[in-house]
Amino acid sequence: MDNKTIVEVLEVLRKEYKKWKDPVVTEIANNTRNPFLVLVSTVLSSRTKDAVTREASRKLFYRASTPHAMSRLTAGEIEKLIYPVGFYKTKAKRIPELVEMLIKEYDGKVPDSLEELLKLPGVGRKTANLVITLGFGKPGICVDTHVHRISNRFGYVGTRTPEETEFALRKKLHEEWWIIYNGLLVTLGQNICSPRKPKCEECPVSNFCEKRI
Ligand code: SF4
Repeated sequence: MDNKTIVEVLEVLRKEYKKWKDPVVTEIANNTRNPFLVLVSTVLSSRTKDAVTREASRKLFYRASTPHAMSRLTAGEIEKLIYPVGFYKTKAKRIPELVEMLIKEYDGKVPDSLEELLKLPGVGRKTANLVITLGFGKPGICVDTHVHRISNRFGYVGTRTPEETEFALRKKLHEEWWIIYNGLLVTLGQNICSPRKPKCEECPVSNFCEKRI
């Protein structure tokens, strides 16, 4: 798939997107415009269905929605609030470490650069890029499992890992699409282009896709 075609695909998906529910972190970002909540909900969302992340985020943020408020919760309290997100025990230990570092090193504010975000415990490229794009509205490319899989199925990249996909996209994709690329492909992945049984016959971009499945 060439650069002209990917733009046609993204234009189609941008129209279709309105039919689908926002991914949970996009929803939280749109409702709150708060990088800290984007950061914590992204940590919760890893290996977790959106409905579960939504409920866990709601319960946790009701109790604490700032780094200082969250620093007053114990790991045990966080564990109960976020259960049953994936790896909830590990995440319940990681969140206090994250919050402590934000308070000690960053004056209780989420940093707005990829380089600084990557220094935070438990924050990898996927999370850091999502905080940059959805939390701060700055250019970044968040590659999760949907974005990696579908970019390859399109035939737009030929990569083995999400990290390789991110760097391939940074080279090829025009920057004006970086921020929304994740949301468009995640909703396509959640509704049509699922990992095991993609519904190519229902897919709005089937005519453009190389279907490298
Ligand atoms: S045509 Fe099939 S493989 Fe391609 S994006 Fe659509 S569902 Fe996925």
